Amino acid sequence: MAEPDCIFCKIVEGKIPSRKVYEDDDLYAFHDIAPWAPVHFLIVPKRHIASMAHLTPEHESLMGRIMTLAPRLALEQGCGAYPEGGFRVVVNTGKEGGQEVHHLHVHVMGGPRPWLKG
Ligand code: AMP
Repeated sequence: MAEPDCIFCKIVEGKIPSRKVYEDDDLYAFHDIAPWAPVHFLIVPKRHIASMAHLTPEHESLMGRIMTLAPRLALEQGCGAYPEGGFRVVVNTGKEGGQEVHHLHVHVMGGPRPWLKG
């Protein structure tokens, strides 16, 4: 299931250390190593999916779970409540989309401004 050269597969397997935010049977969330914002974590499917461009209808429930988990974890990690607080969700996809790690991941960023980027 895991791609041998995929850094996020190695993180999911515990072969590369990470600062865990959340884990269940299908999903793993961890703090970004180079945060842009006071809160910046990534949610990944444990099973390797290269990018958002690889999604098919079979992934609908998995992606739904990620999108409903994001607001819960954002609050738990210190993002302010909507509407004064909030958070940003980003999924870089492909070279022109700015994707550097080719294991699907959802960035969740928030916290008081200014941020480093964005
Ligand atoms: P992207 O450009 O969307 O592919 O972003 C990849 C993200 O993964 C970047 O924000 C990196 O800082 C982050 N990243 C890369 N390696 C690690 C790591 N070992 N632990 C946590 N985050 C990482």
